[in-house]
Amino acid sequence: MIQVAQDEDKREILRQYRKLLRYAKPFLKEGDARQIKKAFNLSMDAHHNMRRRSGEPYIMHPLAVAQICVEEIGLGTTSIVSALLHDVVEDTELEIEDIERNFGSKVAKIIDGLTKISGVFDYGTSMQAENFRKMLLTMSEDVRVILVKIADRLHNMRTLDSMPRNKQIKIASETIFLYAPLSHRLGLYLIKSELEDLYLKYTEPEMYRLIIDKISATKSARTRFIRNFINPIQNELNKRGYEYVIKGRPKSVYSIWTKMQKQDIPFEQVYDLFAVRIIIDVPQENEKAACWQVYSIVTDHYQPNPDRLRDWISTPKSNGYESLHTTVMSKTGNWVEVQIRTRRMDEIAEKGYAAHWKYKHQGPQAIGAESGIELWVARVREMLEHNASSAIEFVDDFRSNLFSDEVFVFTPKGELKKLPNGATALDFAFDIHSEVGARCIGAKVNSKLVPINYKLKTGDQIEILTSSKQKPSEDWLQFVVSSKAKGKIKDVLKEQKKAAANEGKAIVKRKLKQIKQELNNEIVDKLVNFFNVSSPLDLYFKIGTGSIDPKNIKKIKNLDQKVTKKVNGQADVKTGQKIVKTQSKENDVLLIGEDLDEVEYTLAKCCTPIPGDDVFGFVSTHEGIKVHRVNCPNAVELLSKHGNRVIKAKWASKSALSFLAGLSIKGTDRVGLLNDVTRIISNDLQVNIRSITTATEAGIFEGQIQLFVHDTKELDVLIKRIEKIEGMEKVDRFYPK
Ligand code: MN
Repeated sequence: MIQVAQDEDKREILRQYRKLLRYAKPFLKEGDARQIKKAFNLSMDAHHNMRRRSGEPYIMHPLAVAQICVEEIGLGTTSIVSALLHDVVEDTELEIEDIERNFGSKVAKIIDGLTKISGVFDYGTSMQAENFRKMLLTMSEDVRVILVKIADRLHNMRTLDSMPRNKQIKIASETIFLYAPLSHRLGLYLIKSELEDLYLKYTEPEMYRLIIDKISATKSARTRFIRNFINPIQNELNKRGYEYVIKGRPKSVYSIWTKMQKQDIPFEQVYDLFAVRIIIDVPQENEKAACWQVYSIVTDHYQPNPDRLRDWISTPKSNGYESLHTTVMSKTGNWVEVQIRTRRMDEIAEKGYAAHWKYKHQGPQAIGAESGIELWVARVREMLEHNASSAIEFVDDFRSNLFSDEVFVFTPKGELKKLPNGATALDFAFDIHSEVGARCIGAKVNSKLVPINYKLKTGDQIEILTSSKQKPSEDWLQFVVSSKAKGKIKDVLKEQKKAAANEGKAIVKRKLKQIKQELNNEIVDKLVNFFNVSSPLDLYFKIGTGSIDPKNIKKIKNLDQKVTKKVNGQADVKTGQKIVKTQSKENDVLLIGEDLDEVEYTLAKCCTPIPGDDVFGFVSTHEGIKVHRVNCPNAVELLSKHGNRVIKAKWASKSALSFLAGLSIKGTDRVGLLNDVTRIISNDLQVNIRSITTATEAGIFEGQIQLFVHDTKELDVLIKRIEKIEGMEKVDRFYPK
């Protein structure tokens, strides 16, 4: 019985292997087949006796990944070999040196890259960010690392069924977070939409099912409509003797779903469920003229919407995408998107990066498209080399660049620049040179004067105005979208802060000298407490920039006596709420919130505790006792360095006071969302709101609410209720300052 199963396995493995060779055959050079066979055998041996969670022999996975590389991405021998071996170093006894000895340094480098980036990916942690950064670093050396990684991820997503639920969600989230946008960036449109659809399938299974069912239920009506729509176009194309294919495919489940979410509409109201694609077969030198001729045929029969014309043939996207898009009015009164392209363009659009190589040396346009990706990879490399920001910030910046489409603009000399959508004059300035960016005071766009945060439009011609007196400031970060500009601005700000801090430190030293004190850790601690700042650096910075008056430094001289007085608990009461100090009964526990024996205390601003939080009291040198949350960001430092000044504290049970708390909310934007939020807070739960700030960008709604609650219980109820609001994705507590 077992023997039968094993034979069955073997047959299946061989079937897959032969299929792989069949697909690879057309481009195999001498010796390639032998390399592939060697890799297959080695991988077979190494993964011997290993099985996937689904029960099939492990080797089926590397085989499938290699198959995706050939069939769906169009990669060659080096990638096939790397795909076959991609898990051996990580999962088996084999070492990278073994790979290098057998397959050379190129393959070894790719496998090494793949092994490094497959470490623990914990969603949202810096660990992941670091890994991602590493992946990009390797990618900029050899883009095949990321292509094989994408193939690996695609196969894992296709076989996600056998994973436990929590892993499904984790893997699917990573996919939508990184791999889908990366695939998009590399022009792998088919893979990108499959990844997105699979993401939806595992995170929103009911919604996914529903859309799939509706797509198939409306299929025959759609087919009829498309047939009628393309009929006159077909006649004309036949008359002129074009070789062509016309496709009318529904859009991906995911893109339909996003539309429904974004516009808050049911399936039935998504009007552009499909696009008509006309693919013509013409020699490369006639491509452009032919596409425009087809455009003219289409618009002879249907009225185009002039706002929806997109010409990515004259200026391809930087991921290589070339196509002509128009949206026209059908006879039944519906808008229909029509995409016009050649077979070469279509292949590049679907398979992306690798398809370029095939056409690389076949004409000027192809080289243009190719250099688009080269340019992008070069930009990534530059970003990695010059970006000093933390890994998390970096990933955020990078991701926002992955998603955005582009605007095409010109320098005064007519040179074309591609920038992410939403880019401003300031982005443009930084794209030219970081010095130009740092000095930018405005720009002339099409000869008109505009501010630095002017949003660029395709076709703008921009001249940057600079001044030697200009300096970047914090708010500039709001004005730029490109990661290059963001990185540079952050660098400059850091420099400025360092310079100010140095100056501040010198001032502190001088002032201390005047009161015959030396600059040492002890006194710095005192100053940090006295001025209620977060760190010595912060202290120096604030003194350097003048936001703390250096004259007050001298006051530190009289501090010591005051402190002792206050610790005894009898200091004068000025502000803050009252606490009870029941020294004898409860081991020096502060009871917060009742009005008996008065001791001055305040709630620490760094963590704004509310009743229900675990708290402790801390005797500060200047402002009496401060109550911090146990998980306050400063708690570790306070508890570990100044344990002698810590007092136990707990909340009095019958507190009628309200405390300030903050909620940050995030969701997909829709009409009435904010209204729903405030209704729940003020009407349903009768909680007082202190302030609300909101911002909407690219359909994502983000807001910060400050409100007065009685305790954590009340806050928890509130969070649960808000989380349930339609479109809400995340509700987190934050600590208002
Ligand atoms: Mn794998």
